[in-house]
Parts: sequence; C-alpha cells; structure tokens
Amino acid sequence: MLKGKNAVITGSTSGIGEGYARALAAEGCNVMINGFGDKSEIETLRSALESEHGIKCLYHGADMTKPDQITDMIATANKEFGGIDILINNAGIQHVAPIEEFPVDKWDAIIAINMSSAFHTIRNVIPIMKKGGWGRIVNTASAHALVASPNKSAYVTAKHGIAGLTKTAALEVARDNITVNAICPGYVWTPLVEKQIPDTAKTRGMSEQEVIDDVMLASAATKKFTTIEQVAALAVFLCSDAAENITGSLQSIDGGWTAQ
Ligand code: NAD
Repeated sequence: MLKGKNAVITGSTSGIGEGYARALAAEGCNVMINGFGDKSEIETLRSALESEHGIKCLYHGADMTKPDQITDMIATANKEFGGIDILINNAGIQHVAPIEEFPVDKWDAIIAINMSSAFHTIRNVIPIMKKGGWGRIVNTASAHALVASPNKSAYVTAKHGIAGLTKTAALEVARDNITVNAICPGYVWTPLVEKQIPDTAKTRGMSEQEVIDDVMLASAATKKFTTIEQVAALAVFLCSDAAENITGSLQSIDGGWTAQ
C-alpha cells in the first residue's frame, strides 16, 4: 500500500516506534529509523527490515533534545531517499513524581523529547512534503493528550501540547495534500511502561501487580493493554489514501478509557 514511499520515524529502536517501522516496511515503505540503544542491536533491526521487506532502511542517531541534529536527520533522509512522504513523531520518555518533587532536568527533557522535537521535525519536513505534493504526519500522543493522571505533569503537558500542534499544523497544510493526525493510545505494553511500574509502585505505596490492575488498566473499559501492532496498524491506515480527508484528528486507541 505504501510501496515507494519514504518515511522518517523518531524513537523507532524500541516499542511502538519499532512497531511503526515494521508495519510501514511491510507495506513496502522505505524507513529511516532513529533512537538510542545498543549499536549492534540497531544494526540487526535495520538490516532485518531491509532483507525481510525489500525496502531501504537507514538509521540516524539524532538526539531529539537537539534541534540541529533533528534538522540534520530530516535533511539526510531527504537526500538519501530523494524525498520524504511520511513523518511519524514517536520518541518519548516518562518520569513519575509529584510536581513539588519533579526534577527540573526531567521536566525539560520530557518537554523537549515528547513535544518540541515534533515541532522541529514538522517545521523541517513541511517544505519537503509540499515539494512532493503529498504528505502524512502522524504524531504519537497518548490518552494523556486528553486526560490527566497524577504525578505525570511533564508528560501530560507535553502530550496536550502535541494535540495542539497536530491541530495547528493540520490547518496550515490542509490545502497541500498533507494530513496531520495524532494517535492517542492507552497503556501499551512496551519498555517505557514496564520501566514506570516500580516508580509508580513506590510513589503510590502499591505492589507492582496493583499498579498494573488498579492504575494502568483501571480506566480501560476493556481491561486490556493496547498492542504495538494495533497502534502501528492505525498509523498505516492514517498514511493510506482512504484517510486523505482525516486531518487534525486525535485518534483514541485506549480500550474506552477516555470515553468515560
Ligand atoms: P520506548 O521506551 O519503548 O521507546 C521510546 C523510543 O524513543 C526509543 O526508541 C528511544 O531510544 C527513543 N528515544 C528516547 N529518548 C530519545 C532522544 N532523546 N532522542 C531520540 N530518541 C529517543 O517507549 P514506547 O512505549 O514505545 O513509547 C513510544 C511513544 O508512544 C512515546 O511518545 C510515548 O509517550 C507514547 N505512548 C506510549 C504508551 C505506552 O503505554 N507505552 C501509551 C501512549 C503513548
């Protein structure tokens, strides 16, 4: 469905981002992956995506807190692929603490990685997509773009910001054949979620199992985690021609969490 298209996916060495890369590659799309991690594991992922799907896969190690590195990542993808059709903003981190104890450096990092990086990728990619006459921008927001939870001030702020950026960018490029949407997952079982279980247990004085049952799945009407594959399939749909008139939208995939 996306044969011959070129995509850049931030934070795609793990979790949901890796899922996006696998799903787009399976549709025939060339992908630039990005993110941190063990160099040889990243190379294994990069070469597997190429050999399994017959696409071109590039890796760029841009740090999403560094605007000049983000600019270089988009310019490199444009040069190597000869254009960029799809941008998926996905890099993200989490820190759980009450506001009065929230470390200032963690606040700054979450705002930079989870929110401002999307401004920098989008501002760099729009001229390229306008030139190509087609574009799809998918921002990974969260149920936390729509509702809050205690002890996640920076994350909730950044994700609400992503929702605003999504709507604003969508309006600015609405006549250029470029759509901009956000995906708002509930809890997805990934390393990011796994890592916050011990912290949340400590902060709330709960067992780790209680965090899973009474915090993470408490609001999901289905009592199920969303899967990486389900989120990636929604992104593929938003990149398809069938989704050409969906723009500026926040797509919930949260087991009914934010319906309440
Ligand atoms: P993850 O920890 O598995 O992956 C995060 C990715 O971001 C990794 O590839 C990591 O290397 C990369 N990254 C982190 N800091 C970076 C930086 N400074 N520069 C470049 N890359 C960086 O997390 P995940 O759960 O897959 O989350 C991915 C996105 O989905 C995040 O934006 C997150 O907020 C969002 N999300 C996750 C869930 C969930 O339950 N897991 C729910 C809703 C939204």
